Amino acid sequence: MPELPEVETVCRGLAQSLLGAKIFSAEAFAPKLRIEIPQNLNSKLKNKIINSINRKAKYILIDLEDVVIIAHLGMSGRMTIQEQESFVRKKHDHIVIELKLKNGEEKYLVLNDPRRFGIFTLSSVEDIAKHKLFSKLGLEPFSEEFSWQALKKICEKRTKNIKATIMDSSLIVGVGNIYACECLFRAGIHPERAAESLTVKEIKKLYGEIIKTLKEAIAAGGSTLKDYSKANGESGYFQFNFKVYGKEAQPCPTCGAKILRIVQNNRSTFYCNKCQS
Ligand SMILES: [Zn+2]
Repeated sequence: MPELPEVETVCRGLAQSLLGAKIFSAEAFAPKLRIEIPQNLNSKLKNKIINSINRKAKYILIDLEDVVIIAHLGMSGRMTIQEQESFVRKKHDHIVIELKLKNGEEKYLVLNDPRRFGIFTLSSVEDIAKHKLFSKLGLEPFSEEFSWQALKKICEKRTKNIKATIMDSSLIVGVGNIYACECLFRAGIHPERAAESLTVKEIKKLYGEIIKTLKEAIAAGGSTLKDYSKANGESGYFQFNFKVYGKEAQPCPTCGAKILRIVQNNRSTFYCNKCQS
């Protein structure tokens, strides 16, 4: 599932090619993904110019002057730029937008989503700030509001385990299962600890590791950007250098003990029982 760094990478990749592009046509091939796709998409998007592309939590916002496309990749979604000559609509290509780039090239922007947990909807510019999709979102990790003090406040009196706490998007947005495992390993904190049991020192360490890990992952994603507009779009995702995630029974990179896997809140957690306490 794409997490914050992947979505940031997708946004940067799209922005690199699409700023200033003009939409010729837009077509939806499914009535809904997780929520309904607006009807008459073509009349709503035709002739619009792409002003900016930004990430909000794990949403991709494509600003078209008076209207904004809100897209979410869900569990399995991909948004890719494809060549018009070689394009054949594939299974699960639910949205196809025909564009003319600033340099005159004509491309397709395609949203493919096999599991249909993604979102493609529209909002007016005025309504975007108070859009209902964003009403329950917690703190953005890179915002000024998110600090170690804010994380301390989140953890106070919270009996839930620390992993589920940092993954809760109503508290902090964008830390999914993969990066939650990595941040806790780097901070030396056992994933089953109750959030309220963390000391100030541990909270400061965890805060620092959340920021650092997400930044490193975005930087790793950035290195794939030059290939981003390739037809298959695979390079929109990347392999971050994981220390524990997906490494059950392999040696811990710090102490050599076997990395363990447990299931918490229906998600796999990977950790080192020796390094994390
Ligand atoms: Zn270890």
